Amino acid sequence: MDITKKFLISFDTEKMSSLETDVLVIGSGVAGLRAAIESSRFGKVLIITKSKFNENNTERAQGGIAVVLSKRDSFKKHREDSLRAGKKLCDVEAVNILVKEGPARIKELLKWGINFDKEKGNFLFTREAGHCMRRILHSQGDSTGKELEKILIRKVKQNENIRILEYTYAIDLLHKEGVCFGAIVEIKGQGRKVIYAQKTIVATGGIGQLYRETTNSVVSTGCGVALAYRAGAKIIDMEFIQFHPTTLYIAGASRILISEAARGEGGVLRNKFGIKFMKKYDKEKELASRDVVARAIFNEMRDTKSAYVYLDLTHLNVEFLKKRFPYITKTCFSFGIDVKKHFIPVCPTAHYMIGGIKTNKKGETGIVNLYACGETACLGLHGANRLASNSLLEGLVFGYRAGICAGESMGKRRKAFKITNKFKDEKLKELDREDIRKSLKSLMTRFVGIERDRETLLEARKEMIFWSSYVIRRLFSIPEGWELQNMLTVAKIIQESALLRKESRGGHYRKDYPVENDMKWSGKHIEFSIKDGCRIGKI
Ligand SMILES: Cc1cc2nc3c(=O)[nH]c(=O)nc-3n(C[C@H](O)[C@H](O)[C@H](O)COP(=O)(O)OP(=O)(O)OC[C@H]3O[C@@H](n4cnc5c(N)ncnc54)[C@H](O)[C@@H]3O)c2cc1C
Repeated sequence: MDITKKFLISFDTEKMSSLETDVLVIGSGVAGLRAAIESSRFGKVLIITKSKFNENNTERAQGGIAVVLSKRDSFKKHREDSLRAGKKLCDVEAVNILVKEGPARIKELLKWGINFDKEKGNFLFTREAGHCMRRILHSQGDSTGKELEKILIRKVKQNENIRILEYTYAIDLLHKEGVCFGAIVEIKGQGRKVIYAQKTIVATGGIGQLYRETTNSVVSTGCGVALAYRAGAKIIDMEFIQFHPTTLYIAGASRILISEAARGEGGVLRNKFGIKFMKKYDKEKELASRDVVARAIFNEMRDTKSAYVYLDLTHLNVEFLKKRFPYITKTCFSFGIDVKKHFIPVCPTAHYMIGGIKTNKKGETGIVNLYACGETACLGLHGANRLASNSLLEGLVFGYRAGICAGESMGKRRKAFKITNKFKDEKLKELDREDIRKSLKSLMTRFVGIERDRETLLEARKEMIFWSSYVIRRLFSIPEGWELQNMLTVAKIIQESALLRKESRGGHYRKDYPVENDMKWSGKHIEFSIKDGCRIGKI
């Protein structure tokens, strides 16, 4: 299968109109914005984003931000919870940085005017699955991401050194011999341009759109992973995909996440027949880690031949629910579900990409001048499974770090220079892109989903090779086409990684290897690169 193309398009930089900046940030979620704010202290920053600035997963985040701010809490406790969720695959130093630097990043947000929910002047901490205590800060009940994005965007817009270009799609990184010089982009209404940058930071978020059912924004198509892969960066841990256990399942309604905090506040899961089942699967019951709860629900759905199970909040105080989960209660109500009287139908859906572009703790990717942060990056922080509410904090802490590292190492801008790429447009027959996109999502859900085995993964491989033979080699001229090529590239990396890891751990469950195999797999990671193909090794 041809996922070894270094660029998706033909171009000659000398013949293209161009822009220049010191730092180019691709993506306007928490990670990109936080990186931009920090690197703007060292030079001019241009943020590009393929849709409206707040169309992303950050805006959708509900539950909150995990951080050690309560007197009863400690770095040790947050670290231990994160390590337990990561199933012996976390990079301990990365976890230490997250928990220790987290409070400073939150205090900055408070200075910038963020509102976290309080009671009698004290923060109102929530507990979520996998946390040993209440440590999750939230805003307006279940609208934490919206509040965070609002504050960061306001800060960015007040900053004279930062410019933001919406509806600007990064097609490819501009790279040569292991060095990145910016990106080639398509700006809606203006066409194709080269953006020359001394430093480029990829913060393009996750991959939920690779699956049929997802909580993710439409922008979450794995573009950053594919861009960095084509530029020669290493991609790691891609077999680990987190499925969120409880997404609203109503035909015709979008797949809205029912926050983990709903179980944290006492919500109970029941199968189609109204029977509680979590006790059967884990002693932590509803508060077991996400992979355990998602698989338990998946099993119950299969055993009861149902497309969903129920989340029961009927025993909780309705005034409390309306205040704590205003978005969820209103959404349910608009579909005829009164959370005080009715159980909420839920199912697991693709939620979070645990792997991504391999970086060190400063966001460096190994490609000179190329950095990554946020969900698209992987520094081993989450191990095999992310602890709930650790990812907004990751975006803040490691976005900040990547921004500083990019800024501090800046030299002088180079003059525009020539890079070309040519390949023949074969003028292939018209393609029904939407049909392949849907087929790919369906294939990933059935064969590379919550449960996989050798047979399903080989079947997925066969289809992907066939589709790629006529999709990847094609010369597209619109974002939807490049997006599809990126999705296929990333799907293939996930499928191959899942095939190689012959054990089950965290967000990767193999029916044919159902147990964690520490003897063979402890501390081992699967790494992909265009140069070396696929390798198994230590980080
Ligand atoms: C429904 C939901 C609820 C969640 N709740 C929580 C929570 O409570 N707590 C928590 O910690 N985490 C939560 N998460 C996870 C968390 O929101 C994300 O991991 C985090 O926001 C990712 O931030 P990011 O900056 O890396 O990416 P995003 O916020 O997704 O931003 C990615 C950006 O990249 C841009 N982009 C992508 N491709 C291109 C391209 N080719 N060219 C130009 N731009 C591009 C997009 O337009 C977008 O602006 C939740 C996620 C979802 C989906």
